[in-house]
Amino acid sequence: MTNPLLTAWDTPFGLPPFDAIEDDHFAPAVEKALADARAAINAIATSDEEPSFANTIEAMALAEGDLDRVLGAFYGVAGADSTPAREALQRDFAPLLSAFGSEVSSNKDLFARIESLWQARDTLDLTDEQAMVLKLTHRSFVRQGAELEGYASDRLRDVTARLSVLGTQFSQNLLADERSWFMPLSEDDLAALPDFVADAARAAGEAGDHGGPVVTLSRSLIVPFLQFSPNRALRERAYNAWTSRGMNGGDTDNRDLAAETLALRAERANLLGYDSFADFKLETEMAKTPQAVRDLLMQVWEPARTSAEADQTKLQAMMHNDGATGPLEPWDWRYYSEKRRQAEHDLDESVIKPYLQLDRMIDAAFDCANRLFGLEFSPIDAPTYHADVRLWEVTRDGQHVAVFMGDYFARASKRSGAWCMAMRSQQRLAGDIRPIVVNVCNFAKPAAGKPALLSYDDARTLFHEFGHALHQMLSDVTYASVSGTSVARDFVELPSQLFEHWLEVPEVLTKYATHADTGDAMPAEMLDRLLAASTYDMGFQTVEYVASALVDLEFHATDDAPRDPMQRQAEILEEIGMPHAIGMRHATPHFAHVFSGDGYSSGYYSYMWSEVMDADAFDAFTEAGDAFDPALAKRLEDTVLSSGGSVEPDVLYTAFRGRMPGVDALLRGRGLAA
Ligand SMILES: [Zn+2]
Repeated sequence: MTNPLLTAWDTPFGLPPFDAIEDDHFAPAVEKALADARAAINAIATSDEEPSFANTIEAMALAEGDLDRVLGAFYGVAGADSTPAREALQRDFAPLLSAFGSEVSSNKDLFARIESLWQARDTLDLTDEQAMVLKLTHRSFVRQGAELEGYASDRLRDVTARLSVLGTQFSQNLLADERSWFMPLSEDDLAALPDFVADAARAAGEAGDHGGPVVTLSRSLIVPFLQFSPNRALRERAYNAWTSRGMNGGDTDNRDLAAETLALRAERANLLGYDSFADFKLETEMAKTPQAVRDLLMQVWEPARTSAEADQTKLQAMMHNDGATGPLEPWDWRYYSEKRRQAEHDLDESVIKPYLQLDRMIDAAFDCANRLFGLEFSPIDAPTYHADVRLWEVTRDGQHVAVFMGDYFARASKRSGAWCMAMRSQQRLAGDIRPIVVNVCNFAKPAAGKPALLSYDDARTLFHEFGHALHQMLSDVTYASVSGTSVARDFVELPSQLFEHWLEVPEVLTKYATHADTGDAMPAEMLDRLLAASTYDMGFQTVEYVASALVDLEFHATDDAPRDPMQRQAEILEEIGMPHAIGMRHATPHFAHVFSGDGYSSGYYSYMWSEVMDADAFDAFTEAGDAFDPALAKRLEDTVLSSGGSVEPDVLYTAFRGRMPGVDALLRGRGLAA
């Protein structure tokens, strides 16, 4: 029997033939595609022909075409609809793919061809996009050590391998600490909590076989507990346990691992010729330098701290009114902040939800995309990987643009969170390839016959992921390696976070937030309160985040890694004047973003960087006096949304906005402006 993954996909829009694909097909298809890719790469590396952009860089892109096609289908299905068989396949594929990756990046013959093209780049008559693809390809080889010889090359390999072991160990220690701690609650303790927290505590007690309700260190339980428990002593115990993860001594203590990680990262950067690990990491980002990140964070830090300190005074007064004495402590903040929120912004989720119907919110996202970019969406009927998945053809002026898949409901086989992925990226090298884009969410599935209802956070998530989808669908480049969301990490959240702003345009909710039973529009007063609540407690949230981002940056922005990271962390917090009643969002021994791998090391700032940009970018529409200003929307598409990674992000942003982003719009948006 033929393997449907390996034949031409004679399906509507070239979708993967989901009705013919069986789990048994994936492994042989990946093996075959990998073998073909390996053979094609070796043929390029050993070719007798003079290196040219076409026979080297373009040939490399084409070499992995089948592999990309098969893996796009596999990872789309594996993340959203996993089974033990698919999990086993993921475990099997990971080492195969990483071995292939290192084989390519350490191929000396291949690098020699890339290097000769790089040296001759000014004489090759390349388009701007080709020049960018050549630069990115060359840089990626260099950053993986292609230019190193002898000891330096061997040492880099050892350092990289050790860092990967340390990252895994760090995560496992953290998980062990999170799983081992629990705090039993009495019936009186429970009675003081809202039902949903009490229910979660009972469920956690049953799940862990603790013989009664407990608080655990899962964020989804401990944060509500700190928000709602009036028992100050219990809050203190819970908070201290939560913030001691990874620093309880013994086998699971992460402090030494953090120190070793920082030292090895500094050495890695040094071997590759960079001043510091932060310089190495930021080279590929929009921010480029540690100083640019520091400047941005400090511009936000001061107003955030001022705002948080004003809030602290109010919360402390509330606490003293309650009869408690002494200063407001970190375990008190969430509790009094929640009380204040209820008094000032009482929003009952159960009253709001009937106005936020999933289908209406999808229509709202589509309508915004139509008004901004002229896109039209019509449902199509074709096989998918799960019965809940919906498909639309996206067109403009009658021309096919993309296929958009929406997979919205939670189920046991889906990993948590929400994400956007391209099962197929836009490109023109292998023909005029249009994207297949999936948004995956975890919204609660309604009972049969009932409409699906969203929380306001859910609706934001829907718009966020749809913003990523637009970045993929409007992509207009030649090479898949720079298509759509293949951009710097501190730039990739711009389209998604920017699109969230259209949910806040009052005319959008006025039109689409209609009551599931009555069809009535959301009352204006409810809409106002909903939008106003989004800036509540932003001083606190900004302070806890920026403190973590600054510690991450300063740990890595030096060639002399701190031998005692805890002491260095304390010094940094002292220098910036961290408020007494606020803890870091993630302290070093449990800062998984930074130490469980190097994905977000010297990169934790990037959430804020993106938010500065999305606030500033949306401000352009506010300044124009029209959230759907056609000329601005066209410029947004022509610059940011269609170029992918084919142009440097600062150039794209400046082309859209006429200047680089400033923090004013963010401070206003977070309610932190003076
Ligand atoms: Zn995102």
